[in-house]
Amino acid sequence: MAIPQTKMELRPMGNTGLKVSAVGFGASPLGSVFGPVAEDDAIATVREAFRLGINFFDTSPYYGATLSEKMLGKALKALQVPRSDYIVATKCGRYEEGFDFSAERVRKSIDESLERLQLDYVDILHCHDIEFGSLDQIVSETIPALQKLKQEGKARFIGITGLPLDIFTYVLDRVPPGTVDVILSYCHYGVNDSALLGLLPYLKSKGVGVISASPLAMGLLTEQGPPEWHPASPELKSACKAAVAHCKSKGKKITKLALQYSLANKEISSVLVGMSSVLQVEENVAAVTELEGLGIDKETLSEVEAILEPVKNLTWPSGIHQN
Ligand code: NAD
Repeated sequence: MAIPQTKMELRPMGNTGLKVSAVGFGASPLGSVFGPVAEDDAIATVREAFRLGINFFDTSPYYGATLSEKMLGKALKALQVPRSDYIVATKCGRYEEGFDFSAERVRKSIDESLERLQLDYVDILHCHDIEFGSLDQIVSETIPALQKLKQEGKARFIGITGLPLDIFTYVLDRVPPGTVDVILSYCHYGVNDSALLGLLPYLKSKGVGVISASPLAMGLLTEQGPPEWHPASPELKSACKAAVAHCKSKGKKITKLALQYSLANKEISSVLVGMSSVLQVEENVAAVTELEGLGIDKETLSEVEAILEPVKNLTWPSGIHQN
């Protein structure tokens, strides 16, 4: 059965020629990392996302120890639409059992991912959380291996992901232009932390597409709160909790405000939100439509920004010491 798609803003992604939906579907929750998600719910959530115009889906073998890729694969197959109608990104180098950015492992990794996703190719293959590996190995071994996979048609474009922002300039300054097509940054373009802003002109000058993930700060900016494993400090957690409580007391949804804040910057190709229910998809898509029509609720935004001011751009350590 054909699924009628509604109109959602599509944005160019660097020099790739891809047109991705402003809201992208973060599939880590489908790996049950924020709480259990039943297969039927995962399929219905992806279906609703696609129906409402989301064409970009992000996963990794790491999410739920490969469960996210398997669930997303089933859900995309169930759409029964041409492969070219959706854009899929997965990752390599980070696994349940640890990190391995060797050429041999990433070559094996893409074949395993394609099998789980039931696809012949992915649109983007990212090196996942590169700050946990040697950045020099990423430059000299991993990215050249990914280039070969690109030539073989298993991945159309190459990306790098991670938390510290200086990893992106380190790698991009050392690879030939056009080698890395996109970067994925997370928890650095939201109401509590907008440090990515400073890097946008540099990324633009390199023609690199920008994916910004976790506008809800991996659950900090939600009424249900963050999962157990969330790495934020108690100070950051309690400031976000206060911001959530403030919105709730005004009858406002912090998720809408936080997502709209991230979406408002058009230099970002896609904002990846983790979603695990049809209701969340509908709420998040409505937030985009409302942003285009009414704009952001400036009064509540400035109140929330004031609450978060003491923790602005406060992050947490991630990765190994690089020499
Ligand atoms: P997020 O900030 O998008 O928050 C996700 C949480 O918010 C989940 O618990 C989800 O159920 C909840 N949520 C979403 N919409 C909601 C709504 N309307 N109301 C209430 N709750 C809502 O964090 P995330 O999922 O970690 O990030 C998004 C995606 O980005 C991930 O799924 C993943 O695909 C990608 N990502 C990649 C990296 C990386 O490569 N290193 C890191 C983080 C995220």
